Amino acid sequence: MSLLKTTCAACGEIELPVSRVVLRICADDRSGVCVIRCPECGSRFVKEANDAMIVMLLAVGIEVSMWSSGSAGPAPEGLPAISAHDIEAFRRNLGKDSELLRHLEGLPG
Ligand SMILES: [Zn+2]
Repeated sequence: MSLLKTTCAACGEIELPVSRVVLRICADDRSGVCVIRCPECGSRFVKEANDAMIVMLLAVGIEVSMWSSGSAGPAPEGLPAISAHDIEAFRRNLGKDSELLRHLEGLPG
């Protein structure tokens, strides 16, 4: 299980499995944040994720949640759900000319 190292305001440096982290990607500008629940104190906080972090998190199989500032609240009816295909396309897009992505995809397992 991949571990993500981050900092909790209450606990300082913490490590948590990526299964406890949700990556929220904004559909408008493709920026991403990690929503993290601290395993020590249970508090929830958000960390900005840059492109390299997003690629890395997708590569380790993090849960992804897409959102759009244009649709606050539940997604309107008829809006297609984000599919694995969309995420893969997004990842390919991010991975263009990315040495990091090639490196990660070359890892075994
Ligand atoms: Zn904490």
